[in-house]
Amino acid sequence: MRNPRCAYDAEGQEIAPPTIGFLREQGETTAAVYCHARDCGHHAVISTDRFPADLPFPDIVLRLRCSACGSRAVGVMKDMAAYYARCISGAGPATGLPPSYQVIGRDVPWPVR
Ligand SMILES: [Zn+2]
Repeated sequence: MRNPRCAYDAEGQEIAPPTIGFLREQGETTAAVYCHARDCGHHAVISTDRFPADLPFPDIVLRLRCSACGSRAVGVMKDMAAYYARCISGAGPATGLPPSYQVIGRDVPWPVR
């Protein structure tokens, strides 16, 4: 049985997921999180600044709860909007993000739990 939290290479060997610290070095300081609860579908972009550098990226979800419905059935993905914006803008500040783009923990405060 494969662990869905882990990545696997072509031979089926487990690949350790990247850590927050590793992604931070790549300029990755946000994550896209999604609520999997039925009828919720809430999603948000969060800052990873509050997480320790040695935390594996997928383990972010263990520390999160959906701010809309309170569910812990949360999934996390790379923040592709920020990723593409960085590709376009190079080393400078990210450009090309939609006006609605906001980061929880940076542009807006974390919800009080
Ligand atoms: Zn939810």
